[in-house]
Amino acid sequence: MSEISLAHGPVARYFESVGLISEETIQRVTEASDIVDLIGSYFPLKRAGTSFRAVCPFHQEKTPSFHVNPARQSFHCFGCGVGGGVLRFVMDYEHVDFPSAVRRLAQRAGIPILEDAASAEDGQKQGQRQRLLAIHAEAASWFHKALVKSPAGSEARAYLKSRGITSEVAKSWQLGYAPDSWDALLEHLRGCRFTDGEIILSGLASSKEDKPGERIYSRFRHRVMFPICNDYGEVIAFSGRTLESDPKSAKYVNSPETPLFTKGKVLYGLDKSKRDLIEKNTAIVCEGQLDLISAYEAGIRHVIAPQGTAFTSDQARLLRRYVETVLLCFDSDKAGKKATSSSLPSLLSQGLSVKVVVLPAGEDPDSLIRRNGPDAFLALVGAAADYFDHSLEEAILSGELNTPAGKSKLVGRIAPPLALVQDAVLRESILGRICSRLSLPHALIRSAMKAPSPDSGNERGVVPLAEPVEKITLSAGMHMLCQIALASSEVREWLRTQAPAVAFEPGGALVDKLTQAEFESGSTTLPTALLSTLTAAEERTLSSLDTRRPMPAPLERAKLTWQGLLIQQFTQKMEGLKSQLIDPSVSVTEREKIQKQILDLKIRVADVQRPF
Ligand SMILES: [Zn+2]
Repeated sequence: MSEISLAHGPVARYFESVGLISEETIQRVTEASDIVDLIGSYFPLKRAGTSFRAVCPFHQEKTPSFHVNPARQSFHCFGCGVGGGVLRFVMDYEHVDFPSAVRRLAQRAGIPILEDAASAEDGQKQGQRQRLLAIHAEAASWFHKALVKSPAGSEARAYLKSRGITSEVAKSWQLGYAPDSWDALLEHLRGCRFTDGEIILSGLASSKEDKPGERIYSRFRHRVMFPICNDYGEVIAFSGRTLESDPKSAKYVNSPETPLFTKGKVLYGLDKSKRDLIEKNTAIVCEGQLDLISAYEAGIRHVIAPQGTAFTSDQARLLRRYVETVLLCFDSDKAGKKATSSSLPSLLSQGLSVKVVVLPAGEDPDSLIRRNGPDAFLALVGAAADYFDHSLEEAILSGELNTPAGKSKLVGRIAPPLALVQDAVLRESILGRICSRLSLPHALIRSAMKAPSPDSGNERGVVPLAEPVEKITLSAGMHMLCQIALASSEVREWLRTQAPAVAFEPGGALVDKLTQAEFESGSTTLPTALLSTLTAAEERTLSSLDTRRPMPAPLERAKLTWQGLLIQQFTQKMEGLKSQLIDPSVSVTEREKIQKQILDLKIRVADVQRPF
């Protein structure tokens, strides 16, 4: 049996990522956050006796089985088994990790996070971040007013109208207009007491050759403005589409990298589409912001746009938190195909399944939805094929497979990304299909899979996958053991003198974590020292236990339960051995060996049954 070690594995990983947030701060943040208040701020809760109820946000249902218990400060869904405390709720609902959940709750409760080694420099950075967010918020609202109200905004209004954007839609996405002026925005921002230094740092202005002291001017002029938000919905950058017909003017100008904004780490629309992505477990990836807005406003809300054509590893990792399948919906032109193939390595490396939506030539989601309605678009989305099948189909239709050279080109194109498919069963089944369609031997494609992909660039770093969240199905004995271990420190002390419980899977590792953690029993919520070591599945399991029910003689119970578990374990082994004896091909000597093992187990069972 594997030995458990608390210095490595999930526990160590968690503490590493908690960084310098002190245990005390985590405790304060948890205590300051009322679970009914918190969950009620996301969706309405209905009082039902002493607890609250809602339709579960984590699975599809009609009758509410999601319960929030204010006394225990916990939530639990009887439908899908999710459950935990405030931190777990934020982690699961917002799809963030433990430290981020702590930070979010801290922000909500107005508790400053005292990161232990917070230096003056950190404090300064934090202040600067706040100033930059304030500039962006101010600029977004100024651009929006210019779009809606100013006479100069008429051209931008006409453009958006021609793209089917109503004023309500412009409002909800805070679309704007940057006037054709070198300094109107700057004057406004100076009037709001932002310094030139801050304005330059925000990327909203630049100076000629970046000479200090040189006159500064607005980066965005005569453009339709799309605010880019982080996943809290705060504006952190802008993308401006030109209104000039002059081909020399860049079609899109984006904010440069700033302390707030790192290109390739943000997905446009994510702050709005998050919930739908989780619900659909699928993301439709659009090329442009307007495509995304059109689809979203037409009711197709599981959409995101990568900002710039291809997916980076960071974006793929971000998306992997929400979905398992990605539908690439790029234009059917050459640039769109290039974007598809260059997005593949990072998406596949994250374990995402990639499908391709084929749009009619010359159409994009926006034009299609406006002309033929959302259902026409959804029909194409529904017909999306797996990337590899799509590539095969395309090659067949184009006649590429008629010549050996064409076949070889196709193999060169699809074999390297195939090697990145993380699920071995899936990879083998795609490989099988490719081999049979191309009538080529497996070995040949396999060797091509080892060659570097022409589009992979340096994006090939395979990153560890997010752990899937599953429920732990505990046997009655393990259920009891978890419950007593949680409720009684005496029991935990005794368990430390026993062999690791990890032998009693499922749930053994959880009991071991309970045993190792230092905490006071009797709290209605799970202790944070323990919480930070648990996987989501483990926390779900623990929070569904009733620890309030008084349990007489916990140590006696624990010992009896432990006995039961050992006997069960030995009996199972015995059954396994007995079934081997039925096999007539087992030799006589082998048979004797098995008989001996069975006898040995019988003795061990008898030993266990003796009183402690
Ligand atoms: Zn549920």
